[in-house]
Amino acid sequence: MVNMGASSAGPADARGAEISAGLDAVHQRLRRACAEAGRAEDAVQLLAVTKNFPAADVAHLVDLGCTAFGEAREQEATPKVAELRALRPHSHPRWHVLGRLQRNKARQVARWAHRVESVDSERLLTALGRAAGKSLEEGERSTPLEVLIQVSLDDDPTRGGCARSELDALTDIAAETDHLRLRGLMAVAPRDSDPDEAFAQLHRLWVAVRVRFPDADQLSAGMSLDLEAAVRHGSTCVRVGTALLGSRPIAST
Ligand SMILES: *Cc1c(COP(=O)(O)O)cnc(C)c1O
Repeated sequence: MVNMGASSAGPADARGAEISAGLDAVHQRLRRACAEAGRAEDAVQLLAVTKNFPAADVAHLVDLGCTAFGEAREQEATPKVAELRALRPHSHPRWHVLGRLQRNKARQVARWAHRVESVDSERLLTALGRAAGKSLEEGERSTPLEVLIQVSLDDDPTRGGCARSELDALTDIAAETDHLRLRGLMAVAPRDSDPDEAFAQLHRLWVAVRVRFPDADQLSAGMSLDLEAAVRHGSTCVRVGTALLGSRPIAST
């Protein structure tokens, strides 16, 4: 934990200024990317990826007006969500889950997640549906759990995401699973390839999904290094960590 005690107002202020500058720079990039793509700036949501950063940093982002945060690991996120609640009791941020999720973490995640973006198997859908149902029953949440199907654009299984050939079946199952709400697709651009090509392909897949499921109007694409390309190809949500908060202290997913 970063020391946020009264005696360390100096360093906390310095970190706040750093985060504020990072956020300004990202907003500027987004504004320009939207203008160049002929899209309204509010058509693209900024998801602040806070994995590997402390709750105090999330609190700074809340103070600066950020309302949606991305986390990759349940073990890290669950205590962070509670910590933020203590730091900013009147904030109601929406937490998105990125990164591979084990089925045995579904129950915990259903307590605080607004959306799980990294769904890539029927087994995970079943576990999340069951967990969300339990959470609704217990009064821990009041709305269905939103899900995005993560699709692999390079068929590299180590990076998560279903194969393109599985997409139709998984979207059908997601739409039919009780207590879940299919909202769209998510993908990570393959390494060492042209992100424009990858995101163009992703956009075509998303258009096809939306024909069958109009509610699946979310396309989560673009990170610190390739958000402009993603905005050119219809992204509705860019997931930005490094460009906002700096290099992660620990190598991450
Ligand atoms: C970590 C992560 C991000 C953020 O990446 P940056 O390059 O730090 O912006 C976005 N999406 C996913 C799925 C991630 O795991």
